Amino acid sequence: MNTGAVLLYHAAQLYCNLYKVTDFQAKETAGIGVYSALSLINHSCYPSVKHYFIGRSLVMRAVRPISAGEELTISYIKPFQKAKKQERKILLQRYWFSCTCEACVNDWPTFPNLPALRFKCLGCKNPLDGRPRVCYACVTKRRDPDKPQTEQMEVVDSIWRGILNACCTDLALNIGQKKTREDYLTVCQNLQLLYEHVAMPCQHVIIMHQLLYKYFEDEF
Ligand SMILES: [Zn+2]
Ligand SMILES: [Zn+2]
Repeated sequence: MNTGAVLLYHAAQLYCNLYKVTDFQAKETAGIGVYSALSLINHSCYPSVKHYFIGRSLVMRAVRPISAGEELTISYIKPFQKAKKQERKILLQRYWFSCTCEACVNDWPTFPNLPALRFKCLGCKNPLDGRPRVCYACVTKRRDPDKPQTEQMEVVDSIWRGILNACCTDLALNIGQKKTREDYLTVCQNLQLLYEHVAMPCQHVIIMHQLLYKYFEDEF
């Protein structure tokens, strides 16, 4: 490779693989940085990881359950709930690729147009709409023999209790209550429960994420 090609290669790398370093706590931008290993992480409009900076240190934390071997992704731009597909497409032009994440392929709506909550079939994972909560896609093969109705209703109750708990915690933080590790772990458990039983996309998961990020600010 000649010198010109090497320079062009690195210039292109700098254009696409830089991080804007903004301290999460101080909310100040310190500049831009190259993080050689973490620059390899690809984009998704529905990312599995939240990234932020404490000083100049780049921190990445999982925001949803990640299966073994599943690719870690961050969002280079506004995530799906904040920008429509067409807007995201324009924002991604500078990175020279078209996004094929789950949100783009299925054209998930932005936050105001999302359903508040949708439960999913634990068999085929499809969303269950309406009552009774029977999955017509796999009802012939499976009538939930391993999950008696009472057990399902207990899960639904726990999910609603978790959402109520998150609303109360958020309200308490907004009026100055101190963050505790115990509350943080409760938020994580409730989010885990939502991901197990709720079909994405839905508003309550996004709301729970916003609460989770408040704890990231204090390094919980
Ligand atoms: Zn996408
Ligand atoms: Zn099903």
